[in-house]
Amino acid sequence: MNILDIIAKKRDKKILSKEEIEFFVKGYTVGEITDYQAAALVMAIYINGMTDEELYNLTFAMANSGDILDLSEFKEITVDKHSTGGVGDKVSIVLLPIIAALGIPVAKMSGRGLGFTGGTVDKLEAIPGYNTKIDIETFKQNVHKIGISMIGQTMNLAPADKKLYSLRDSISCVDNIPLIASSIMSKKIASGADKIVLEVTYGKGAFMKNLEEAKILAKKMEVLGEYASKEVKCVFTPMDEPIGKAVGNSLEVIEAINFLKGKEMPEDLKNIVLELGSNMIKLANKGNDLEENKEKMLETIKNGAAFKKFEQMVENQGGDISYLENTDKFEKAKYEIKFFAENETIIKSLNAEKIGRLTCYLGAGRIKKEDKIDMAVGIVLNKKVGDLVKTGDLIATIYSNDLERGEKVKKELQYNFINDNIKQKE
Ligand code: URA
Repeated sequence: MNILDIIAKKRDKKILSKEEIEFFVKGYTVGEITDYQAAALVMAIYINGMTDEELYNLTFAMANSGDILDLSEFKEITVDKHSTGGVGDKVSIVLLPIIAALGIPVAKMSGRGLGFTGGTVDKLEAIPGYNTKIDIETFKQNVHKIGISMIGQTMNLAPADKKLYSLRDSISCVDNIPLIASSIMSKKIASGADKIVLEVTYGKGAFMKNLEEAKILAKKMEVLGEYASKEVKCVFTPMDEPIGKAVGNSLEVIEAINFLKGKEMPEDLKNIVLELGSNMIKLANKGNDLEENKEKMLETIKNGAAFKKFEQMVENQGGDISYLENTDKFEKAKYEIKFFAENETIIKSLNAEKIGRLTCYLGAGRIKKEDKIDMAVGIVLNKKVGDLVKTGDLIATIYSNDLERGEKVKKELQYNFINDNIKQKE
């Protein structure tokens, strides 16, 4: 067997066998197959798709490319959460401390930014000192000690996905059902939780552009979960505008901290957090009534337990908690460029994908997989869809370390805003 034949087979729309898929996954994980060969095969999969059997074989080969975490030592049912990606998505940072504060163990492995969407690991690393790269034993001890640990894909869990994930990001092969389903489910199988809540996003700021596609992706992931004997519950989230107001790493962490402190809780972020969390609590057998579960969650914000849990987690993983007490300590971008309304209108659209791409252009995301990201840059919206804006109102602030780029982003935002909201009306 050799990789050239496997690439040619997929290129020619033929079906890959289990052995061929395993050969590829193993060879790429250990470095015997190069990035450019893997890129060719991934592109062929992107274009020609996969049968359900190929998807099953790919997912399990990726899940078995490293260790499979055994969480059976935790007496409680462990429930994991994953999102198919969004813009301004700080949901895990808000949701998981709430869940841990309710006594449900949280052992969460998150991803980095992908395409125009951000990643929880990059965001957590915006907190000075926070260590996302810890070994399995410490990870488990953290969960025993304080009930929560959030880390990156740095342990030997689904290492094939870790490589493929960043490769896909750098060759425009992210938004694809078999590649997303295998990426997410291989990680979830390797991460060892008993049950999983999946947030399947759809719309302009998601990889699935409509609900129909999102349902197909969800079904595939549910079936993969069944094969792995894991209960999977999919929750669908529309993602046409960014979640909440901030897009960009430290800016989103600040928004998440303010949420956990109960200071500012944007309605859309709150609804997503409550919807996912109430289902996690139900799967953990800690409450069957979703509305009551939501009340319990809100109580952890009111009584400070959720913020305290977050603080404990950050401290336990080496992060400087003085940044959580005083968010003004986060490093600021050099330039703050404001974009004001020139007309009165009710906002119909704030295109999440465009805002995500512009945030990447400012430096918050990666173009090449080795790129360093700039934690301080991003866009903070002052208005959301449905809001009335009057002439002169602030719509958004752009945080940039490069004046020219910042001004360019402002022009693009203005152009899109006028096209989507003002011209459509005429
Ligand atoms: N999240 C993942 O973990 N993988 C994908 O491919 C997309 C979103």
